[in-house]
Amino acid sequence: MNFSHLRVVQPLLAPAAILLAAALALAAGPALPPTLSGLKTLGPYLVLLLGTGMGLWFNRGRTFIALASLLAAFAGYSLALDFGAASFAARAVFTAAAVLVPLNFLLALAFPERGVSHHFNYRWLMLAVVEIVFVTWIASAGRSSLSGTIWQDLLDHWLFRSPPTPPLGRLLFVAAFVAAVVRAWPKDPAAETRPLDIGQAGALVAFFLACEWMATPGAFGAFMTAAGAILLVSLLQESHRLAFRDELTGLPSRRALEERLHGLGPVHAIAMLDVDHFKKFNDTHGHDIGDQVLRLVAARLAQVPGGGTAYRYGGEEFCILFPELGADAALAHAEKLRADIAAYQMAVRRPDRPTDAETGTRLRHLRSPEKTLSVTVSIGVAAPEDARASPAEVLIAADRALYRAKEAGRNRVSR
Ligand code: GH3
Ligand code: MG
Ligand code: MG
Repeated sequence: MNFSHLRVVQPLLAPAAILLAAALALAAGPALPPTLSGLKTLGPYLVLLLGTGMGLWFNRGRTFIALASLLAAFAGYSLALDFGAASFAARAVFTAAAVLVPLNFLLALAFPERGVSHHFNYRWLMLAVVEIVFVTWIASAGRSSLSGTIWQDLLDHWLFRSPPTPPLGRLLFVAAFVAAVVRAWPKDPAAETRPLDIGQAGALVAFFLACEWMATPGAFGAFMTAAGAILLVSLLQESHRLAFRDELTGLPSRRALEERLHGLGPVHAIAMLDVDHFKKFNDTHGHDIGDQVLRLVAARLAQVPGGGTAYRYGGEEFCILFPELGADAALAHAEKLRADIAAYQMAVRRPDRPTDAETGTRLRHLRSPEKTLSVTVSIGVAAPEDARASPAEVLIAADRALYRAKEAGRNRVSR
């Protein structure tokens, strides 16, 4: 069975489910028991506040800006609705939210992620203050004789006309959505999509739906909550990813392996793999090339057949878990892997590659910009000796077998 399209769809599942839940909640809204009706007003604040706090805590600048903008938009519009839905204040705040929220997303996407605590973000704080003061000032127009009618006329300009979403808001939404999708798009087919980037795009869609359906009772709150929930969930997914994925190779980490070991059945096999003389390899070719080689080896390991999963155990050591194989079958796969890797001519980028394009083009005619290198690996394989052997003991046995493979001269498999 081919799961490759599932890999593409999987990151979209959480945002899609949240949007669906919001739509369903909206449809079932009037049926909400009276005891839960307070949720409709409190829910959005709860989710958006929690999300903003967590964005701050996890130091995720972009997600924090998105959530803070949504929170300000929701709070501002709720306050303005006190003057009546048709009031100038409510219309002005809605228009400002529909324009400023996607604008903030767009600005945050345009700048590199630097975290919330970085001093750079005081500029964001300034922007937030300017936005809030400006919107409050406009919204109070007509309440005093000072402000005149200029803002009233502005709301009738076609760019700002609503309901539902003013054209300028739609334009900015499209721009921000395109920017979010570009950032979320995997850079190469093997690369993982990052939950935080998907979350940005998903939250924009939710916000857009909130604006488009603002006239439907409850819709604004429901989809604002969805936008907050999408970002909140993306924060959790991101921290899960950080804990269980190895950043360099993209393989699951040692922590993921340890969790997996607990759930193993009596039939399984474990292969421990270590790159031979890798310290010398680093000394000869440099740490940067060493990293590239580890990535290429890991990509090979990730494709191991026999239902095996490769983990980065640490440094230049990997572990392959065969949850359904006996020792002999695992040994055969390990031997094939060893031979494959030994024969693998890896194309690596030169570290002395010229940085300016002109010299690069000139030199490319003289010599290849890449060179090929290869490494060998030693592998130790073990399976439970009897039913009482725990996976942790099997892992230790595989490590001992690896040691024997090294002793026996490296570039070989031992059990
Ligand atoms: P052996 O054949 O006995 O395994 O020799 P070795 O040199 O591979 O073994 P040793 O454990 O002494 O050294 C492992 C080296 O792997 C040390 C370190 O320079 C290198 N290494 C570990 N992690 C990384 C990494 O993430 N990137 C790079 N480039 N090198 C790493
Ligand atoms: Mg080692
Ligand atoms: Mg080694």
